[in-house]
Amino acid sequence: MRTLQHYIEGGWRDSIAHLDDVAPATNRVIARVPRGGVAEVDAAVVAATRAFPAWSALPAEKRAEYCDAIAAGIAARAEELAALESLDTGKPVALARIMDVPRAVANFRFFAGAVRHAATDCHEMPGALNYTLRRPLGVVGLITPWNLPLYLLTWKAAPALAAGNTVVCKPSELTPLTASALAEIVHEAELPPGVFNLVHGLGGEAGQSLVEHPDVRAISFTGGTATGARVAATAAPQFKKLSLELGGKNPTVVFADCDFDAAVEGAVQAAFRNQGQICLCGSRLLVEASLQDRFIAAFTARARALQIGDPAADVTQLGALVSHAHRDKVEGYLRLAREEGGKVVGGERPSLPPPFDAGAFLSPAIVTGLAPDCRTVQEEIFGPVVSVHAFRNDDEAIALANNVCYGLSASVWTRDLARAHRVAAALEVGMVWVNTWLLRDLRVPFGGTKASGVGREGGFRSLDFFTEERNVCIKF
Ligand code: NAP
Repeated sequence: MRTLQHYIEGGWRDSIAHLDDVAPATNRVIARVPRGGVAEVDAAVVAATRAFPAWSALPAEKRAEYCDAIAAGIAARAEELAALESLDTGKPVALARIMDVPRAVANFRFFAGAVRHAATDCHEMPGALNYTLRRPLGVVGLITPWNLPLYLLTWKAAPALAAGNTVVCKPSELTPLTASALAEIVHEAELPPGVFNLVHGLGGEAGQSLVEHPDVRAISFTGGTATGARVAATAAPQFKKLSLELGGKNPTVVFADCDFDAAVEGAVQAAFRNQGQICLCGSRLLVEASLQDRFIAAFTARARALQIGDPAADVTQLGALVSHAHRDKVEGYLRLAREEGGKVVGGERPSLPPPFDAGAFLSPAIVTGLAPDCRTVQEEIFGPVVSVHAFRNDDEAIALANNVCYGLSASVWTRDLARAHRVAAALEVGMVWVNTWLLRDLRVPFGGTKASGVGREGGFRSLDFFTEERNVCIKF
């Protein structure tokens, strides 16, 4: 069993207290995680503050070369990282191989390219010229959740570092393994000490200390909406820059004129990929009434056929939920769904051989018969649970889709292009997919509206967040 360490000022540090890192597929302790707090965060911020002047003064090309080296380091350890991510989160290794790890490589490569091509504005006026400088912020705090640990940490660290900031990272204590591996890769890429720092620990301790620290200039946070509100309340009085990527309750909207097979497959993937633990998952399935019975039958059959079990097996399509506590929470919602009048198909603990009989597995659950305003339909469950609702026309589909406090993403399935444009324009979300789901181009704006967050990541928007503009006006 490994004992992880913090990575501060280019070296490895321990803490007095530790937490257990548990593999959710077997309920076995796989690592000891140092429980950092005020002291460790302060040491990391001091190191990052010291490193900032030299790092930010490097030419962008040089920082891009470091990012390329980190990307190469991740790529070189791809299989090991996929295995670690699968062990830590319970997700199928087959998914980590094609999604989490390639995306981590792409994140560093993409932002290396972005800073190489970044440009700033120039505004001419009679007798004067304005030009805009972009300067990195200083020390920034990166706080990430457990569902896509390496994917999301690199999505923040790459633009922050490429833009010239120094970083202190706080991953979820539930899934610390790939963050530690990333620190090793950063070390091997010989980033100057203090540029990249990693503090493990609990959100309420290490995370809170990072948000409170007066020398941290910005917080980029991805996680739940309630935690995001707390982070915002802590950071706002210090006027820290904040990026908040929060929860979702995303609709998959299926019209009767859709490509049926593609829509069934797309809706199943949207509902259950990563055991339904992706912020973009389609957890509300809205189906045009005339198609409803046929669609639910095909959707249910496809979902029930997903192979669930050992996350390390290549054939596995659904692994374990991230923890037993989280499975308890999801099962609590299934009980609530029944109390609220819903009919639940699935949502059982599958019968698996040892050691997976001790794991936090749950089969896909499809809930019908719920009123759109009930708690099961309104609250983010973040598990393999989808509720199904019928609509009769476009207006009703749009009203149902918008009838939640969240506004992250939606997918719309129709062959009618005019309808696709109309519906996409009316949905109160940050991202709409038409006839697909989770097709990502790293240049496009990523983020939510309403309770799903504040700000946008992606492409030059991430670089904008991690820099401050300064206008220079010169009179001729
Ligand atoms: P979470 O409980 O909000 O935790 C997110 C991160 O914040 C973790 O590292 C957590 O540490 C830390 N944290 C907790 N309390 C904190 C505090 N007071 N100050 C600073 N940091 C604190 O979220 P989660 O359960 O890990 O992740 C699931 C949620 O993330 C879902 O709501 C999902 O929709 C959302 N999510 C959103 C996106 C997006 O892009 N919009 C992407 C992925 C996930 P500990 O884990 O150590 O407590």
